[in-house]
Amino acid sequence: MSKIIDIVVPDIGDFAEVDIIEVLVAAGEEVAQDDSLVTLESDKATMEIPAPFAGKIVSFSATVGDKVKEGSILGTMEIAAHDTVLANVEESVAPAEVEAPKTETPAPQAVSASDLPPADIQCEVLVLGSGPGGYTAAFRAADLGKKVAMVERYSNIGGVCLNVGCIPSKALLHMSVVLNETKEMGAHGITFAEPQIDIDKIRAFKDGVINKLTGGLSGLAKARKVEVVTGYGKFTSGNTVSVEADDGSIKTIAFEKAIIAAGSRVIKLPFIPHDDPRVMDSTDALALEEIPERLLVIGGGIIGLEMAQVYDSLGSKITVVELGDTIIPGADKDITKPLLKKIKKKYENVFLKSKVTNVEAKPEGLLVTFEGKDCPETDLFDRVLVAVGRAANGKLIDAEKAGVAVNDWGFIEVNERQETNVSNIYAIGDIVGQPMLAHKAVHEGKVAAEVINGMPSAFTPMSIPSVAYTDPEVAWAGKTEEELKAEGIEYEKGAFPWAASGRSLSLGRDEGLTKAMFCAKTHRLLGCGMVGPNAGELIAEAMLAIEMGADMQDIGLTIHPHPTLSETLCFAAEMAEGTITDLMPPKRK
Ligand code: FAD
Repeated sequence: MSKIIDIVVPDIGDFAEVDIIEVLVAAGEEVAQDDSLVTLESDKATMEIPAPFAGKIVSFSATVGDKVKEGSILGTMEIAAHDTVLANVEESVAPAEVEAPKTETPAPQAVSASDLPPADIQCEVLVLGSGPGGYTAAFRAADLGKKVAMVERYSNIGGVCLNVGCIPSKALLHMSVVLNETKEMGAHGITFAEPQIDIDKIRAFKDGVINKLTGGLSGLAKARKVEVVTGYGKFTSGNTVSVEADDGSIKTIAFEKAIIAAGSRVIKLPFIPHDDPRVMDSTDALALEEIPERLLVIGGGIIGLEMAQVYDSLGSKITVVELGDTIIPGADKDITKPLLKKIKKKYENVFLKSKVTNVEAKPEGLLVTFEGKDCPETDLFDRVLVAVGRAANGKLIDAEKAGVAVNDWGFIEVNERQETNVSNIYAIGDIVGQPMLAHKAVHEGKVAAEVINGMPSAFTPMSIPSVAYTDPEVAWAGKTEEELKAEGIEYEKGAFPWAASGRSLSLGRDEGLTKAMFCAKTHRLLGCGMVGPNAGELIAEAMLAIEMGADMQDIGLTIHPHPTLSETLCFAAEMAEGTITDLMPPKRK
């Protein structure tokens, strides 16, 4: 599907009539989003008017010498299907008229407050799930003046992220980094005594962090008058849910609009005795019941490797088994290499291109059967952590009773406005698809609440960054180099090894790398990968650069404080530009 839209001069500040001094496109030309269309000149400045979307110029009536102002029409363009939602937004089409994903079930009509069926609670916006997506959506909707109810099955709000995900894992990883660093200080001339590990205190610290945050969230919910309803929620129609509390009591809630934010759960493997307490998922591992002598981690992705690091620091002997040919699938191999090298040296085993085919619970341990090139046929472990991914919860909420389409994997399909196939029901977070990350859920939550409020919001990020909070950290944003190659996009790369960074060397670390990939034509940043201490913090600058359309010169000319690890992105840009002085510039091809 495509659509013809007017190309309109956007807000150009206080200028009433401005001259067109240059026309940069003609009818029939294909343009990318943000390509310059015309140059305007006022008595104070010149400015370029960018294409609002990628597409084809159909007509272009503006000529040099014309005077234009905000709202003047320059021409028309044909834009692609996925951009039409945004175009509709700009034309102020009501949300219900925007094309939604197709469904076989007829969509129920949205109702107003006066038409709501009788229920224990009536609200304008019902949010199902209180994770980062859910509470963000609920809070934003409340701030926009809506009467909001948020349903959460557990007594603590905050979802996976706060209770059994991002936050507890990072609290434990901090402890792990401190333990590692104190050991490494021996080589710098400072030797600490062997650490005394008090697992109860570590657990108490982690739980304290969770409680502070979830307590804070409850306070914020109260302050915003968001009604938190504890219990398991299921749809009973397109305007009602029933919520069953642990004691079996049921509350009904009638809503005008609903936002589904019910998240995801761990995937279980059929050949593993998951009911044996020695078999753990990430939630069990974070509970830190004991420190096993030998731990097998199934899955070399981010969650598996973060937990492996925690248990390694506490003294467990770790084996990691990963099906793929490298760790952290999705990241470029050159940025995961330093981590792989380190854990291969530190852990008992890292088996790649290998899999577990059976786990048998024996009194003396868990007998694991492997298949792969370098692994043994069987081995005995004290505990096994299964970290092979997460499944969306779409099939567990009776979504069909509201007419909401859920695919075979439990995901709910949405458009850029987080709308499902049912006009008054929205979905956000892990339940709408990959990447399953808290920061994606948060931004989607804001969009859903704003769209419900009639605002022209859409979830159209240039990229969603990923971070493994391992030691070293691995982080990437935008396109990976492998994606650029696969998509045939021409790019120029600048790579800066942290072995040449004074700051990194002062930390006693030389394995890091920052690489930045730029569009060969526009020199804009397309993607960035980093590995090294604090890479997860540093990647935010690359993300901002991608969103702002910054090019290699913008990054290279931005003065970064010295000596910092942040300089490595600046240096990577200079490597691409050939202006680097801290290393020899790469030879021009
Ligand atoms: P969730 O956080 O899953 O919240 C959904 C909520 O809905 C849950 O509280 C659930 O109890 C509730 N719920 C579900 N169904 C119902 C129902 N029928 N009735 C009532 N309540 C219901 N992401 C990052 O970005 N950074 C990280 O560092 C990171 N680390 C992680 C570490 C681990 C160990 C794990 C497991 C995940 C990690 N994640 C991380 C992923 C992140 O936690 C999720 O992407 C994020 O929590 C998704 O938010 P959400 O709002 O979609 O859903």
